[in-house]
Amino acid sequence: MFSESSPAAARVPFSFELYPPRSSASNDALRETVLRLAESGPAFLSVTYGAGGSTGGRSLEVLRFIRENTDVEPLAHLTCVGNTYAAAATLIREFLDAGIRSFLALRGDPPHDQPEGFLGDLESSAQLVQLIDRVQAEHAPYEETPVPGIPGAAQVAPRRRVDIAVAAFPKGHPRSAHRTQDVEALLAKQAAGATFAITQLFFHADDYLAFVERARTAGITIPILPGIMPITSPARLNRVLELTGEDLPSELSIALEVEPTVEGRREIGIEWAARLTREVVDGGAPGVHLYAFNQHETVLTVLAEAGVTPALRR
Ligand code: FAD
Repeated sequence: MFSESSPAAARVPFSFELYPPRSSASNDALRETVLRLAESGPAFLSVTYGAGGSTGGRSLEVLRFIRENTDVEPLAHLTCVGNTYAAAATLIREFLDAGIRSFLALRGDPPHDQPEGFLGDLESSAQLVQLIDRVQAEHAPYEETPVPGIPGAAQVAPRRRVDIAVAAFPKGHPRSAHRTQDVEALLAKQAAGATFAITQLFFHADDYLAFVERARTAGITIPILPGIMPITSPARLNRVLELTGEDLPSELSIALEVEPTVEGRREIGIEWAARLTREVVDGGAPGVHLYAFNQHETVLTVLAEAGVTPALRR
């Protein structure tokens, strides 16, 4: 889906992440967002999946909506925590039956109230990558055509492989024992068949660029898409720091705290994300993946301000 970009590349691919809606009112708003994001021509729209299956049906509903109402590739996040092999395979088949051909394979986190509960048969996302590949191979229709002039001989059509993305952690996974562990984990995911990676959000371009360099030195060849999140309020900043274990970016934090208006804070978040986008693209990123928070205006403005898409008409 992606290749390493060169400065001469005509267009930088971009994509967006959405989450399943929690109410019917937010479902209507999300459908409008999907249509507006689709108009901008993203490489794919990804939809998160609640660990333990808490949002499974709703995630699939959004993915179906994308598939049936836009030309954009829907990409399904899938988590394996708490699942048996058989249940994970059934889940993958359900998504394949719905026409989904691109996945982000994740381990997911155990529920906060049962950190030591059943973590599932699959110990890591690398094993989920292998399972998706295996289930897809069984699911793909077998097609053969006779070879003219050779009685009984048949040419077997190569199967279309699914795209399987995985997560990468430029500043380290919160539970990593040491920094090289995240490169090792990504190597394991690549060896299992992952076709590209999407990073956890980060606040400085060097975090991403240095991680990519370490990954390339270690032998990782798959594209590594930077995950970029416009942070438009102190509350959102605190929430993502809690979830990701990232260090507080003091400059952004202070700017958001001292700005009195909602619109002003939104502009600060957009400017920060647009600058980050420009810097990683200039550094050779093969595309950018934006966390959209189910709203189109902010992420579309980020891309326009970064020069990835034409300036927005106001
Ligand atoms: P794993 O790949 O299994 O690994 C996690 C960490 O364990 C590694 O980084 C490494 O430190 C260590 N590790 C694993 N295998 C090895 C190995 N072979 N060698 C050395 N170390 C190893 N969560 C959800 O519940 N739903 C979502 O939709 C969702 N979407 C996400 C999207 C993105 C882009 C990202 C970055 C994260 C997302 N998450 C989501 C969060 C994710 O589930 C958690 O971060 C989880 O704790 C780790 O998932 P993983 O797939 O990286 O796990």
